[in-house]
Amino acid sequence: MPVARRNTRAETLAEQSPLPHWGAEERRDLLARLHARARSGEAETPWDLIVIGAGIIGAGIARDAAIRGLRTLVVDGNDVAFGTSSRSTRLIHGGVRYLEQGELGLVYEALRERRRLYRMAPHLVQPSSFVFPAYAGDRLPLWKLRMGLALYDALSLYQSRHRQVDAAGARAIEPLLETHELRGAVLYEDAVTDDARLTLTTMQSARRHGASVLTHTPALRLRKDDGLHVVELAGGLEVTGRRVIVAAGPWTSERLLGAPGRGVLKLSRGVHFVVRAEDVPVRQPLVIQVRGERRILFVVPWGTRTYLGTTDTAYEGDPGDCGVEPTDAEALFSLVKRVLPSARLGPERIVSAWSGVRPLVLGRAPRRAGGTAELSRKHRLIENADGVVALIGGKLTTYRAMAKDAVDHVIEGLPAHDPEGPRWPRATTHLEPLVLGRPLAVEEFGDPLIADLAQRHGPDSRTLAARAREVPALAERLVADLPYRWVEVERAIAFEGALHLDDVLRRRLPLALTDPALGARVARKIATMLIEARGADGAEIEAEIERYRELVFRETGRSVPAV
Ligand SMILES: Cc1cc2nc3c(=O)[nH]c(=O)nc-3n(C[C@H](O)[C@H](O)[C@H](O)COP(=O)(O)OP(=O)(O)OC[C@H]3O[C@@H](n4cnc5c(N)ncnc54)[C@H](O)[C@@H]3O)c2cc1C
Repeated sequence: MPVARRNTRAETLAEQSPLPHWGAEERRDLLARLHARARSGEAETPWDLIVIGAGIIGAGIARDAAIRGLRTLVVDGNDVAFGTSSRSTRLIHGGVRYLEQGELGLVYEALRERRRLYRMAPHLVQPSSFVFPAYAGDRLPLWKLRMGLALYDALSLYQSRHRQVDAAGARAIEPLLETHELRGAVLYEDAVTDDARLTLTTMQSARRHGASVLTHTPALRLRKDDGLHVVELAGGLEVTGRRVIVAAGPWTSERLLGAPGRGVLKLSRGVHFVVRAEDVPVRQPLVIQVRGERRILFVVPWGTRTYLGTTDTAYEGDPGDCGVEPTDAEALFSLVKRVLPSARLGPERIVSAWSGVRPLVLGRAPRRAGGTAELSRKHRLIENADGVVALIGGKLTTYRAMAKDAVDHVIEGLPAHDPEGPRWPRATTHLEPLVLGRPLAVEEFGDPLIADLAQRHGPDSRTLAARAREVPALAERLVADLPYRWVEVERAIAFEGALHLDDVLRRRLPLALTDPALGARVARKIATMLIEARGADGAEIEAEIERYRELVFRETGRSVPAV
C-alpha cells in the first residue's frame, strides 16, 4: 500500500516539524481549488496579490505580503529558484566592487541586509573572512584596497572590520598564493550562502504565513477584466488578483508587461566551476583581480569542494537555456592560476559547473561605457498602464528590502479586508527568523547527522535527525563524501515542493553540482520516490531520468552517466 505508507511517513514528519506539508498532494489540492474558483467566477474572492516568479524576489515578496495578511498566490513556470537564484556566486555581501562604481547607497543597503540575514537565517548565511590579495601591477593596489575596505567597514556600521597583512602574512593565511610580486592582502568579512536553499526557505516561510505556491505552471498572458487582473496559466487555468507583481528575473519582458517591459534588462551570463577541495584547497574565500578588466573573481571553499567564478559576458536568448561554453573553463582557470599557481585546474578536474543570467537594469546610464560588469545592480519597479508591477534587478543579498518596496507599492490604494479596520500593516520581515525553533547549540554539532544537516536546515535539523534515527536507512548519505542524507530526500518530496528529479538533485541537495557522477547513482531511486508521490505510472521513471539528464547537460555541458 504505497499511498498509505507515504502518508504515514509524512504525518510522522509533520508531528515533529513546524513546516507545513508541501508535496504532490498539496499541489493537487491547490489545483483543484483554483479550478473550482475559476469555474465559479472568482470575482468575489480574488487573490490580493499574484506573484509571477518563485526566485528569491518572488519568494521575498510572497513572504512579506503573506506576513502582512494579503491572500497571496505565487506561480512559477518551473521550480522554486530555477532561475538566477540557484546560479549565483552564493555571496551575501555588500559588494566591494560597487564601491569603485560609487554605488555607496547600494553597498550600505546590502550590508544592512547582510546584518539582518545573519539574524533571520544564521544557518544559511555564514560569515567568512575573505582574502583580497594585491600584486604589483594590479589595477587595485594595496593602498586602494585598504581605503575601499575602510569605507566598507564604515558602511557596515563597524559590524565588521578589515585587516591588512603584508606578503608574508598573506602567504601565512593562504599558502597557495603566488609569491612573486605579491604586495600583501586585505582581509574583510562577507558571507557565503546557499542561494537555492535561501530562496526555498524564504518560500517555506511565506507558505507558513498562508501564501499558496504553484510551481511548474508558467503564466502565459495577463489581462485586465472588470478592474481585476486575470493571469492565464498553462493548462487552461485562469487566476484573478487585485494586484500582480512580475518577479520573473531575467525573463521579465514585453510578453507579460507589454511595451514597458521591452528592453528593460540587459542579460549577462556568469559561469562557475566546481572542483574537489584537494585540487584547490583554499582555506577561506579568495578574491582575485582580473588584469585589464574591472571584474573580480571568487574562489570559495564549499565543504569537500571548491567553486570558482564568475564570468560576465553579454547574453541573448532564453535565460533557461544558458549553459557553460567550451571556452569558459580555460578562460577562468588561467585567471585563477595566475594567483594560485599550484591549483590543479584542467578540464579533467572539473566536478561540475553552473551557469546563470544576471538581470541587469538598463535605463540608468552606466558610469562608464563598457561591458555588463559596469551596469548597475540597483533594482527598479516598473508599472504598466494596467497597473501590473514588475520588480527587476538587484541582488540576492537585497531581496528582502526589494520585496518590501514592491509590497509597499502595491498595497497603496488596495483596500484592506476589513474596511473599518486598520490599513495593511508595515513590513516585519526582518523581525522573524526564516526557520522557527531554538538555534542549534554548539554541542549538538557533535552529532554527525546534525553536523551534516545544520547548514541547510538550522533548527529543523533536530526533526530530521530524529526521523533518521527512527529509520536508519534515512540516515545514510547519498554520496559518501557529501553531507546530503536520504532523510532530506523524503523531506524534499513531502515538505519542500520537489516534483522532479532536478528539483531534488540540482536545487535542494545539489548533487548535480557537487557529485562527479552528477547524482547518477541515486537518480533512479529518487525518481521512483517522486513518481510514487505523484501517483504517476511507473513507466514515467525513465522519462523523469531522461529529463534530468537533458537539463543537467544543458546547464553544465556534462553528461550524467548511465543510470
Ligand atoms: C553569475 C551570477 C552571480 C551572482 N552572484 C550574486 C551574489 O553572489 N550575491 C548576490 O547577492 N547576488 C548575486 N547575483 C544576483 C542574484 O542571483 C539575482 O539578482 C537574483 O537571484 C535574481 O532573482 P529573481 O528572483 O529576480 O530572478 P530568478 O531567480 O531568475 O527568478 C525568476 C523566476 O521567474 C520564473 N518565471 C519566468 N517567467 C515566468 C512565467 N512566464 N511564468 C511563471 N514563472 C516565470 C522563472 O522560472 C524563475 O524561477 C548573481 C547573479 C548571477 C547571474
